[in-house]
Amino acid sequence: MDVFNLTTYSEDETKEIAEKLASFLNRGDVLTLEGDLGAGKTTFTKGIAKGLNIRENISSPTFTIIKEYIDGKLPLYHMDVYRLEGSDEDIGFEEYFYGKGITVVEWAQFIKDYLPNEVLSITMHYGENQSRVIEFVPYGPYYRTIVENLFTNVKGL
Ligand code: ADP
Ligand code: MG
Repeated sequence: MDVFNLTTYSEDETKEIAEKLASFLNRGDVLTLEGDLGAGKTTFTKGIAKGLNIRENISSPTFTIIKEYIDGKLPLYHMDVYRLEGSDEDIGFEEYFYGKGITVVEWAQFIKDYLPNEVLSITMHYGENQSRVIEFVPYGPYYRTIVENLFTNVKGL
């Protein structure tokens, strides 16, 4: 398993990293986001949305589970599956994962059984002060290349 770590020191820096990542993404890509409440999952998703030129404000879809943003370069399907913990409800995930947009899943560990085998797994950990350690684990060669491109691009940040 390949693990790529980086540390951000502010909300803006996390958004910047996510925005850069978005520039390497393509339709049908799936990002899973894990990390405690407040770790920065939704903040990261906002950066992805910015990178896709989505102007609509991104808010946490905790109660709706999924929100679709279609005003950018590619559709963004933003899921927060926190409420599905312990249930085996399938809300039609496949339609999104294999759809025309990019899917970002907050609390992805709660729908493990439904996730594609190949995803880019991102886990956010609290660091000291406002810092966050962001861990990227690519599953499959496609996502490995994406992470390598990202890390080449953010060196020195
Ligand atoms: P989650 O979706 O994981 O529950 P949010 O993105 O909603 O988390 O909230 C993260 C909070 O942490 C925001 O209030 C944000 O301003 C703050 N924050 C502080 N430092 C950082 C950082 N380095 N990266 C991301 N968010 C940060
Ligand atoms: Mg959130």
